[in-house]
Amino acid sequence: MRVNVTLACTDCRERNYALTKNKRKHPDRMELRKYCPRCNSHTLHRETK
Ligand SMILES: [Zn+2]
Repeated sequence: MRVNVTLACTDCRERNYALTKNKRKHPDRMELRKYCPRCNSHTLHRETK
């Protein structure tokens, strides 16, 4: 029931995080506020394919 997803910064498009998510809990594309080393700040990260 858990799938691998990648989170990419919505500002610079850098892929910063790989994680697993519960598909039942998050059936849609996830958005999380995470630290981006390229932007050097917390930005919104969105799930990519
Ligand atoms: Zn960034």
